[in-house]
Amino acid sequence: MSTAAETKLLSFTEARQTVEQYASTLCATQPEMLPLLEALGLVLAENLRADRDFPPFPRSTRDGYAVRATDVAAVPASLRCVGEIKAGATTERSDIGIAAGETVEIMTGAPVPAAADAVVMVEYSERNGAVVTVHRSVRAGENIVPAGSEARQDSTMVSRGTRVNHAIVAIAAAVGRAEIAAYRRPRVAVLATGDELVDINLPPGPNEIRNSNSYSLAAQVYAAGGDPLILPVAPDRADELALLLRKGFQSDLLLISGGVSMGKYDLVEQVLASFDARFLFTGVRIQPGKPVVFGEVALYGRTIPFFGLPGNPVSTMVTFQLFARPLLDGLAGSKPQPLPFAQASLTTEFTTKTGLTRFLPAKLGGTHERPEVELVRWQGSGDLMAVSRANCYIVVPPDRERFAAGEAVTVLRF
Ligand code: AMP
Ligand code: MG
Repeated sequence: MSTAAETKLLSFTEARQTVEQYASTLCATQPEMLPLLEALGLVLAENLRADRDFPPFPRSTRDGYAVRATDVAAVPASLRCVGEIKAGATTERSDIGIAAGETVEIMTGAPVPAAADAVVMVEYSERNGAVVTVHRSVRAGENIVPAGSEARQDSTMVSRGTRVNHAIVAIAAAVGRAEIAAYRRPRVAVLATGDELVDINLPPGPNEIRNSNSYSLAAQVYAAGGDPLILPVAPDRADELALLLRKGFQSDLLLISGGVSMGKYDLVEQVLASFDARFLFTGVRIQPGKPVVFGEVALYGRTIPFFGLPGNPVSTMVTFQLFARPLLDGLAGSKPQPLPFAQASLTTEFTTKTGLTRFLPAKLGGTHERPEVELVRWQGSGDLMAVSRANCYIVVPPDRERFAAGEAVTVLRF
């Protein structure tokens, strides 16, 4: 039996690799057919195929004049305009003849007539009645997207396992799919622990605090494509905690908040050990969130992964994003998404302590030419207000102590 007594303290990189590797071994939930927009944020359970060539005809990418490139090899060139084609035109492409020295006016998105091989942008032309003067030559094929060049009929446009975002929704719509197959949202039980907690619909006593972690976790789970189930708050008593853990293990994943630090009433690891839990790590050298625990139990004929997330609200949020999020990908049939790191220049200097990888609430802004990031003042890992003003964390490597204004730093967006 593996017990909580065996401490497995990993670096941030080791812990992240552990969860990514674990996530990639998980089996996906059942697929279901859903109306297109209900699949937003879920993972595709089928390949989306092209029902015809994309584009279905050679498409003009510009407003201008469809020409034979040879007719405008020498400029200025005068052509006679013999017609007009707008997007959605019903005429067959082959019906519009363009003889030598002729052109037709064409709009963006319209089918280029078979007799033309290029489109001159309207900006490089001049119109006088039926006479069009072209001031710039075009190569054959210029400003035309050939039929089937984006996708051939029956080819896969989006693969199973892709998370559905607005671009995937657009492709599904473009191939005429009002319903698509997506993996069911993994069920994620959320269990807050702590004698000091009261639920949000009850008045807290003078020394009590409201349970906010169950709600922030539920929000993160839902945004990550999961189906959160909030369990009643567990008191710091082993027997009652065990009953609620057993309930939580009926889900695909169990997230526990609080009770994983070194305090006398931090019972979570000990009670998990009584389920013969296998612990993959029992701490990570990060701040906030160092006591985070990850493991699995075998119960009800299945193996159920769990996280014990430290109870301080910011620690709970950070450790969910860093470590629990990849499991939602795995359970939904997708590869773990990489963490959204970016670089930005620091607006003001700061110092910190070495030894841990730190995630400091910060605000990313600036311009596209110079993204900037500013630390948000905070009182430590219980400070909800600080995260509410932030949109990222500055990631401080364990060996760094001092940062100068203007220095490029890594940020993790959320
Ligand atoms: P713990 O990890 O159990 O030692 O909790 C650390 C601190 O986080 C507690 O003293 C509480 O102030 C806070 N905390 C724990 N659980 C929650 C919760 N569910 N909602 C809000 N704050 C919490
Ligand atoms: Mg506690």
